[in-house]
Amino acid sequence: MKSDIVIVGGGIIGLYSAYLLALRGIKPTLIDRGDFGRESTWAAGGILTPLLPWDYPEKILFLTRNASSIYQNLAIKLLDDTGYDIEHWVCGLTVYSNQITYIKDWCNQNNVHYNNEDGYPPQIHLIDIAQLRTPILIKALVKQLQHLDVKLINNTSVTQCCIEQNKIVGIETSIGMINTSNLIWATGAWASIINPENIQPRTPVIEPIKGQMIALENCPVQLNSILFNDGHYLIPRKDGLILAGSTLENVGFENSITDAAKEILWKRSIEIMPELTTCNIAYHWAGLRPGSKNNIPTIGPHPDIEGLFYNIGHFRYGIAMAPKSCEILTNWILNDGHDLSELEKSYSQLN
Ligand SMILES: Cc1cc2nc3c(=O)[nH]c(=O)nc-3n(C[C@H](O)[C@H](O)[C@H](O)COP(=O)(O)OP(=O)(O)OC[C@H]3O[C@@H](n4cnc5c(N)ncnc54)[C@H](O)[C@@H]3O)c2cc1C
Repeated sequence: MKSDIVIVGGGIIGLYSAYLLALRGIKPTLIDRGDFGRESTWAAGGILTPLLPWDYPEKILFLTRNASSIYQNLAIKLLDDTGYDIEHWVCGLTVYSNQITYIKDWCNQNNVHYNNEDGYPPQIHLIDIAQLRTPILIKALVKQLQHLDVKLINNTSVTQCCIEQNKIVGIETSIGMINTSNLIWATGAWASIINPENIQPRTPVIEPIKGQMIALENCPVQLNSILFNDGHYLIPRKDGLILAGSTLENVGFENSITDAAKEILWKRSIEIMPELTTCNIAYHWAGLRPGSKNNIPTIGPHPDIEGLFYNIGHFRYGIAMAPKSCEILTNWILNDGHDLSELEKSYSQLN
């Protein structure tokens, strides 16, 4: 088999990269060892911003800044083309904090709209924050990629990357060899397991960070905003479910749900919103985030190996970062990075 561009990893980063390439007239091959989007992307809450944006450097905020408006347009397109509603919803984010003056100053400096509500504990409502439902986004993107004639190969593991004279020439997979001269490595939490260059230490170190969430049903009150308090958040869904998250666990590739986490998530939810006491826990799940140093992904070409491109390490905010990350990567591949700013190019540096 031969393909001009192969993308390994069909989470949001691989799916969105394939989508942007297809829009530019290129038909990549997208490979995943399971079903598309069933790992970290499927587990995500779908909030389209870093949780407390004032705590993060420009290098993270730059990647997430326009995520909501890009997904808003994508939502319309995907509904038209595929029939799936990804439930993009500008529901806002209410943060309880004792630092309201500092947060207001940050919002004013960064042109972020807010309402400063009275009440105890002190709180601020960021008006423009949005969310979407990632399991539906995955289905919609897969269907859209099928319409765009992208070659989709699931249930296929990539076991080795083949390099000759410092150039990518192909990959070995569980269904045989695929020849290619361009490889996008979008393997999420597993990015460092198979070292695509077969040599240390020029691969960014990505480590799995487990996150668990629960979803509450039969809630007696309607929640119309994401709520955040002291490391814990509640996300309302349009169908009345309320998601509560999330844990941050450094336990390797172990990805099971635990009673201990369920109890903590439940207790913290009631603390934020005592009315939830009568709810049932409808679902409980876990996912492995692609943890990276300082939450900053690596996006761009490998410095020594022609045809190898990274798009990995999006850690806690890969849904929010995907549109911009994949746009930067597409520019590297199709245009040798010519139209990129110095900031955009800087994500290619291996951490
Ligand atoms: C509980 C939780 C809540 C989250 N909430 C949010 C949120 O609200 N907002 C937000 O922006 N982000 C959130 N995130 C983070 C977000 O989910 C991730 O940053 C994002 O999904 C990473 O996307 P990815 O495509 O890199 O990885 P993944 O979605 O994990 O995809 C990687 C894919 O690569 C495949 N793969 C790996 N190795 C191989 C191989 N050798 N061969 C073939 N295929 C391979 C895997 O099967 C997988 O499908 C959350 C994460 C968790 C766990």
